[in-house]
Amino acid sequence: MKKHNFSAGPCILPQEVFKEASQAVLDFNDSGLSILEISHRSKDFVDVMEEARSLALELLGLEGKGYKVLFLQGGASTQFLMTAYNLLQTKAGYINTGSWSDKAVKEAKIFGEVIEVASSKDANYNYIPKGYKIPEGLDYLHCTSNNTIFGTQIKDFPTTNAPLICDMSSDIFSRQLDFSKFSLIYAGAQKNMGPAGTTLVVIKEDILGKIERQIPSMLDYGVHISKGSMFNTPPVFPVYTSMLTLRWLKKLGGIAAIEEENDKKAKLIYSEIELNPLFKGFAKKEDRSTMNATFSLINEDLKETFDAMWKEAGINGVNGHRSVGGYRASMYNAMSIESVAALVDVMSDLERKA
Ligand code: PMP
Repeated sequence: MKKHNFSAGPCILPQEVFKEASQAVLDFNDSGLSILEISHRSKDFVDVMEEARSLALELLGLEGKGYKVLFLQGGASTQFLMTAYNLLQTKAGYINTGSWSDKAVKEAKIFGEVIEVASSKDANYNYIPKGYKIPEGLDYLHCTSNNTIFGTQIKDFPTTNAPLICDMSSDIFSRQLDFSKFSLIYAGAQKNMGPAGTTLVVIKEDILGKIERQIPSMLDYGVHISKGSMFNTPPVFPVYTSMLTLRWLKKLGGIAAIEEENDKKAKLIYSEIELNPLFKGFAKKEDRSTMNATFSLINEDLKETFDAMWKEAGINGVNGHRSVGGYRASMYNAMSIESVAALVDVMSDLERKA
């Protein structure tokens, strides 16, 4: 039986994408060849790459606005350093809202001055800082839209005349935003887009070419753009599977349609966390993420019973991250509301039993 998979990433993807992707491993486009054995320069694969790039732009509403799309390797973690390598000349601002932002800060410091414009580290990142002042003269301002570990999400993005860079690894394609506010967006594929192994980078071309340092080719956005994201062998299977997920999302009605579903799922779990006296939420209410709900048992003595109950109900992946503890229910785009209801049922069953 298929489990209700609440894993934080890698995570659930649409079942039909799994089916189509596995078929392509056996026989891609009725070619008599596997997607894994054809040249990345073959027309069939170049078409996949082009469709993936154009679907990403279309879904984000960024067509014709000077953006380029890349599918790179090295995970979102490589983007922590690539952004700074390509764009940090003197000083950059960072909003520190979680362990991933913190890692981005650490990498950027190798390349120049980093100003932590705001941080919620003082409260183990359970909120999104607000009302901070952004200094003038930044090369860019970096933020993390959704904090996967802590379950917080930025609802109002900062306004600045510096280019805005955003790590959207765990909520890309999940909610409508004015994506043209961002000069660079990056996201590891392994949440809302595809398997681990590729990272989406959407970049406004005119922010490049402003720094003096030499950049090694593999870390140079300009090089990847000039080669159509095919400077070297791309991660063919992750790109193909991401393309299938983006097709799935488009067919469903795009980000507007999935946002409605995501809001319903989030409402369901958060109202249970609020109403059930056995549980408490971790993130500040106004900053709660629609993708990752973090919560814990008020009485830890119930842990063994609760853990046995959710496992029995076919639920997977709800253990919280070690830096927060408790539980984390990740409800990415492909998760159905029925799966969230299954978890909520277990939570209310526990209340009846306790
Ligand atoms: N940023 C965020 C918000 C993440 O959730 C993660 C991974 N879960 C990363 C960055 C790091 O991604 P990767 O493992 O692809 O380097």
